[in-house]
Amino acid sequence: MLEKNLKSIQDKVKDACKRSGRHPEDVTLIAVSKTKPVSMLQEIYDLGIRQFGENKVQELTDKYEKLPKDISWHMIGHLQRNKVKYLIGKTTLIHSVDSLRLAEAIEAEAAKKNCLVDVLIEVNVAGEESKFGISPEEVLPLVEQIARFRHIKIKGLMTIAPFVENPEENRIHFANLRKLSVDIAAKNIDNVSMRILSMGMTNDYEVAIEEGATMVRVGTGIFGERNYNITNE
Ligand SMILES: *Cc1c(COP(=O)(O)O)cnc(C)c1O
Repeated sequence: MLEKNLKSIQDKVKDACKRSGRHPEDVTLIAVSKTKPVSMLQEIYDLGIRQFGENKVQELTDKYEKLPKDISWHMIGHLQRNKVKYLIGKTTLIHSVDSLRLAEAIEAEAAKKNCLVDVLIEVNVAGEESKFGISPEEVLPLVEQIARFRHIKIKGLMTIAPFVENPEENRIHFANLRKLSVDIAAKNIDNVSMRILSMGMTNDYEVAIEEGATMVRVGTGIFGERNYNITNE
């Protein structure tokens, strides 16, 4: 089942690239494996996937220990400052930086471990109450502050679009995030790149690619529905 799911997603990623005149190599598929057992991740790994996304530090670090070391782990969930120390050194990219205080905690830990941490700024594109992330107007000021940190590199923006029946409804949000990233890139801020746009999930990754996503985070489409009652195996 996983092989068929993965193939289907990969084909649709390619088709979306073709429709929008983009190169498939410019879009990275992240397999969002939260709540799924290590055996399923291993199966996807054996099919060639090396980019995995998790939303909890404990789960990410557990799986990091158990799976091959050439996996790139993406932290895509809300990150608490007191958990930063467990994460640094194990994650390729933190997608969910949404405050100066969190960035300060990352900077401190990265300095201690003498490493460089790549991050994205999480933007709440639709102004939803229930979502983490900062408003579009807050992005530039935060980027300018974080740009001064020596152990953090801003690589772009991330968003979790609203849950909608029709993914077309999110097109405007993806287009707006892209516009925001282009505006910020034009400021040529030292230490800041806007090359990554992490947007699109199972329900809307095709539209996100058409609007410029360079990373899509797909969970359900690859691994099937999540059952939150049996997550602690
Ligand atoms: C769970 C999650 C995903 C994947 O969601 P699906 O709808 O299962 O594809 C993507 N991004 C984030 C931040 C998530 O928490």
